[in-house]
Amino acid sequence: MTVTCEECGSETVVRCVLGLPTVETAEAVERDPNLELGGCVITPATWDSRCRDCGHTVGLERGKRSAADGG
Ligand SMILES: [Zn+2]
Repeated sequence: MTVTCEECGSETVVRCVLGLPTVETAEAVERDPNLELGGCVITPATWDSRCRDCGHTVGLERGKRSAADGG
């Protein structure tokens, strides 16, 4: 699946692999320069995809707004 950056349209978008990596995941990440291990700890700063060209990141909570934002 090709992911493009919504900011600059670049196709060099890195996908973040969350959760404990399996052997298969680790091998896939080693082979695919567009995959990166994100670890098993998910924080508010955790990103789901990141553009190599402009650095734009898409967070896990895209499109969702919590009540903490004040609506
Ligand atoms: Zn970009």
